[in-house]
Amino acid sequence: MPSDQKLQTIASIKAAGVAGSDAAESQQITREGLISSINNALEFARMSQRIVGLLMVHLIRPDKLEAMVGAASGELMKHALLRLQGALRGADRYTAVSDEKIIILLPNLKSASQANLAADKVQRLLEEEFSIGQSLVHVRPVVGIVLFPDHGEIAEELVVHADIAAGVAVSQDVAQHSFQHEDRSDSDVYLGLEAPLREAIRTNRIQLHYQPQVQLKSGKCVSVEALVRWDAPDYGPVAASTIIRIAEISGTIGTLTDWVINTAFRQQTEWKKLGIDVNISVNLSTINLANSELPEKIQQAIGTWGVDPQRITFEITESATIGDTQRSIAVLNRLKALGLKVALDDFGTGYSSLSYVKNFPLDELKIDKLFVQNICDSAADQKIVRSIVALAHSFNLQVVAEGVEDDARLRELKKLGCDLVQGYVFSPALPASHFANWMRARP
Ligand code: C2E
Ligand code: CA
Ligand code: CA
Repeated sequence: MPSDQKLQTIASIKAAGVAGSDAAESQQITREGLISSINNALEFARMSQRIVGLLMVHLIRPDKLEAMVGAASGELMKHALLRLQGALRGADRYTAVSDEKIIILLPNLKSASQANLAADKVQRLLEEEFSIGQSLVHVRPVVGIVLFPDHGEIAEELVVHADIAAGVAVSQDVAQHSFQHEDRSDSDVYLGLEAPLREAIRTNRIQLHYQPQVQLKSGKCVSVEALVRWDAPDYGPVAASTIIRIAEISGTIGTLTDWVINTAFRQQTEWKKLGIDVNISVNLSTINLANSELPEKIQQAIGTWGVDPQRITFEITESATIGDTQRSIAVLNRLKALGLKVALDDFGTGYSSLSYVKNFPLDELKIDKLFVQNICDSAADQKIVRSIVALAHSFNLQVVAEGVEDDARLRELKKLGCDLVQGYVFSPALPASHFANWMRARP
C-alpha cells in the first residue's frame, strides 16, 4: 500500500473509532463527542501533516422573530441535520450547537480547497426549502471555515474562530468566509478592547449594578441580580454581553468572574449592615463551569466575606458553543454541596433546555424575556410560559420571569403563577448605593 493511501486508511479508522462506528457515512454526534473528535483529528493531523477543517454553519431565517418564539426552530434543526446524514464523507462528523448553528468536522483533508467544496455542498443541501408541519421554511445557510494548522492550535480556539468567520460572512452578506487572523480584531466583539478590559479589571474600574427581583406573593424585593458594567476609556459604555464575550475570547473571564463574585459578596455583607437583606444572583459563563477550581475559589470568597451560601444563586446558561456537560454538572454539584443555589437562565431559548432541567442540579428557572415580552399579545407565548411554570414547579424549582417591562405583563405573569419578577417595571439594574435608596423608598 503506498504510504499516502495507508495514512488515509489509518485516518478513517481512527476517525471512525472516535465515534464508535464503521464510518460508512458521515455522522451526527453529541457536542461533547465533537470536541473529542476534533482533538483526535488534530492529533492525527499533527503526525501526518494533514489539514483539519471545521465549518460553522449559521442557518439564517428571514422570518427571524417568528422563528425565535415557536418550537419551529428546534424542528428546523432536526430536519437540517437529517439532510446532512450521509451527504458528507465517511469520516466527517457534525452536531448542532444551538437552534441555528451546526458545526461540521472535516478531518484529514489534503488541501484547503476541499473544505470549500464541502461548504458548497452543505449550502446546496440546506438552501432547499424545508417542509415543517404545514409550512415551508426557507433558510440561508452561511458558512464560516477554519483550518488547522493555519487558524488555531486547539479545538476550542478553532470553534471560536469558525464562529467569528461565520459572523463575518453574515455581516458582509456573503455565503462563505474563510477565517483570517484580522477577523479577530475586526469582529465587533473584539473592538481592540481586550487590553483595556484587562487593565480595568486589575485597577477596579469596572462596576456591578444590581437589578431587583420582586416576589409576586409578598410584593417584596427579596433578591437582586448582579450585572457587570464598564465605561471603557475613549469608547464609552460597553454592553454587558460584549464585555463577557471579550473576556471569554481573550482568556480573562476567570479573573473577571473572580472579581464579580468577590464584589457581589462584599456588597451583600455591606447591605446587611445597613439592614438590607437580599439574596444575590451572579452569572457564570460556560467557560467558568469548565474550571474545576471554581468551587474552591467560591468557597474562599464565602469565607472572606462571611456570606450565607443559601442566599447566593449562580445563574448558568445553556451554552451557545460547546462545553463538557459532565464536567459542568460535576462543578455545579460541588457548588450545591457548599449550600449555594443554581438557576438556569434564558430558559427556553436553547437547543436542549429540557435535558438541562433533567440533568442539572437546579433550584430556579428564569424564563427568557423573549417569551415574556409577547405575553399579552401571543396566546402561544402564554401557553409556553404556563408550561414552563408547570414544568418548573413539578421539579420543585422557583420560576423567575425576566424582562418584565409594564403592569399588563406583570398581571399576566401573576395569573400564570410565576414566583419572582425582574424587569424595568420595577427597576433597571442600579449602582449599589442607588439600590439601597430604592429599597428604603419602597413601602
Ligand atoms: P441576562 O443574565 O439575561 O441579564 C438580563 C439582561 O436583561 C440584562 O442585560 C438586563 O439589564 C436586561 N433587562 C433587565 N430588565 C429588562 C427589561 O425589563 N427589559 C429588557 N429589554 N431588558 C431588561 P445586560 O445587563 O445588558 O446583560 C446582558 C447579559 O450579559 C446578561 O444577560 C448576562 O448573560 C451577561 N452578563 C452580565 N453580567 C455578567 C457577569 O457578571 N458574568 C457573566 N458571565 N455574564 C454577565
Ligand atoms: Ca442572568
Ligand atoms: Ca437571562
